Amino acid sequence: MSEWVEGGCLCGGQRFKVCTDPPPPYPPVMCCCKMCQRCLGAPAGVFLCVKEENLVLTSTEEVEKYESSPGNLRWFCGKCACQFYFQATQALPGTVDRPAV
Ligand SMILES: [Zn+2]
Ligand SMILES: [Zn+2]
Repeated sequence: MSEWVEGGCLCGGQRFKVCTDPPPPYPPVMCCCKMCQRCLGAPAGVFLCVKEENLVLTSTEEVEKYESSPGNLRWFCGKCACQFYFQATQALPGTVDRPAV
């Protein structure tokens, strides 16, 4: 049975739910690139990797999107500027299988 948890932005204008059952296939990914640092105002961004179909917007407010690099969209609230979703078209480096060393 699917289990969904809810979340939202700072002002509550953006709400979403994420499916956690089965658990996301990868552990949270930490990114220290300059774009994440500037976008989030922090030394790093930490992202929970889920399939697109496992994240559903539940609010009616229009979501803002910024393409920070080709094909990669940062979703944020236009009112409070909270970024709550990073939509990547490429696999994140830490998620690919590597040959045994
Ligand atoms: Zn907001
Ligand atoms: Zn980054």
